[in-house]
Amino acid sequence: MKCLKCGSTAYESRNSEAIELENGCLLVIRNIPCYKCTQCDEILYTGDVVEQLEQIIASAKKLAQQLMVVDYTSAA
Ligand SMILES: [Zn+2]
Repeated sequence: MKCLKCGSTAYESRNSEAIELENGCLLVIRNIPCYKCTQCDEILYTGDVVEQLEQIIASAKKLAQQLMVVDYTSAA
């Protein structure tokens, strides 16, 4: 996997994302599989992961809690 930003090699890693939803809920997703650039620390997600994240966000919106922490590995 090559970094889209600088073209360096990206290695497999795990990342956490904090996403603020339009209903004011803060959603934290942990253990997201990603690729991280060795040079610029850019985080890259594969298409499958992006799709899965969209599904997690969609179901979080329905619950409408103020703060939610989701583990990617248990939500996938
Ligand atoms: Zn890079």
